[in-house]
Amino acid sequence: MGIKVAKFGGSSLADAAQFRKVRDILLSDNDRCMVVPSAPGKRNFTDVKITDMLYACAKLASSGQSLDEHLGKIRARYEEIAQELEVEFDFAPVFDEIRKNIELGAGEAYAASRGEYLNGMLLAKYLGWAFLDAKDVIFFAGDGRLDADKTQAVLSKALRDQRNMVIPGFYGSDATGSVRTFSRGGSDITGALVARAVNADVYENWTDVSGCMMADPRIVRNPEVIRSITYRELRELSYMGASVLHEDALFPVRIAGIPTNIRNTNNPDEPGTFICYEAEDDETRYPITGIAGHKDFAIINVEKTMMNSELGFGRRVLQAVEEQGISFEHMPSGIDTMCVVVHEDALIGKKEKLVARIHELCQPDSVEIHSGLALIATVGRGMVRSKGVSACLFNALAKAGVNIRLIDQGSSELNIIVGVDNLDFENAVRAIYRAFVVKEKLW
Ligand code: ASP
Repeated sequence: MGIKVAKFGGSSLADAAQFRKVRDILLSDNDRCMVVPSAPGKRNFTDVKITDMLYACAKLASSGQSLDEHLGKIRARYEEIAQELEVEFDFAPVFDEIRKNIELGAGEAYAASRGEYLNGMLLAKYLGWAFLDAKDVIFFAGDGRLDADKTQAVLSKALRDQRNMVIPGFYGSDATGSVRTFSRGGSDITGALVARAVNADVYENWTDVSGCMMADPRIVRNPEVIRSITYRELRELSYMGASVLHEDALFPVRIAGIPTNIRNTNNPDEPGTFICYEAEDDETRYPITGIAGHKDFAIINVEKTMMNSELGFGRRVLQAVEEQGISFEHMPSGIDTMCVVVHEDALIGKKEKLVARIHELCQPDSVEIHSGLALIATVGRGMVRSKGVSACLFNALAKAGVNIRLIDQGSSELNIIVGVDNLDFENAVRAIYRAFVVKEKLW
């Protein structure tokens, strides 16, 4: 018998109807024997996530205000779900304890974690499965970061030879035993840690979309779903703005060689997206896997004649950037020019000092900063074998009337990054998508 770890996001557990779908999904495959739930999410656009209401409770408590209204609403949500599912659950003592702790100043991590804790207990009761409190098996170190080694050791021991377990997402405990949480969306990380601990065959991440899209659906209408993608490709796309999984959820499963499968709770027959260490078949449907991008970058352009023969020039430019506490994104360079691309925000209040310091350290001919740049990454492992990918991309942009201000292709040939004017961003993404996926004729 295999092991699949299934993590369900907040929208998958937002009400009783969603709980039923989750149970059907779990019971339809005996291998799905470990489940990691989030807290109930929004049921509609105007709804509020339980986690947000719990953060609000912590805030109210810290200013000495009453929690009655908020806790009352939260409790009503859980009670409604339990009632509709005909699950006997006495919420009174649990809510009394939660109220007492929050009022005594347990803090926002404790308050926020109760969403997953309560949902985990309710789901375990509904399924008739065992509940394992994440605070006993997921650990944070003194610096607030995950203690991966301790977590792996304790979690794998606790889950050894076990089946049908519910482990709530998002939280664990620190060295003092206090509850800590990951950053928002962190149940994805819990799911990945559980998958690694039990050496799962697959980590299923159930959400409300049928996988990762090839482009942002707010820009491209009905983009295709990516059927298979490598962890490296996904990292490139996520870094450039595609939001799929919590960024830190990729590492535990990636190092353990466990594939992740993004699935849709509302459409369980869809295969979703498979994220693998290496794509199984090298025959990708398109030479590109996906397109992602961000607006609001700035280019720091440093020019100096004969810069190429000056030892340490690049290091000194980067030293000036580092001294201002700015992290850089890309560094496309020419013979006598060096460009450093940074987030526009990172330059706020630092521009003059940075320029002065580059002058001091490098004696360049000129330093100019241009803002309003959008970066678009076209990512695809298929590029390595395909000729003419860049030609196709640049033709598409030319045809769409987009001026390219910067080009950067890593030697891994996994992506081509172009910088365009903020104003051209959406047009450029659509043009690239049309060229590769719709296969619009370009010449
Ligand atoms: N409930 C938490 C949040 O809203 C964690 C999660 O859903 O993954 O961020």
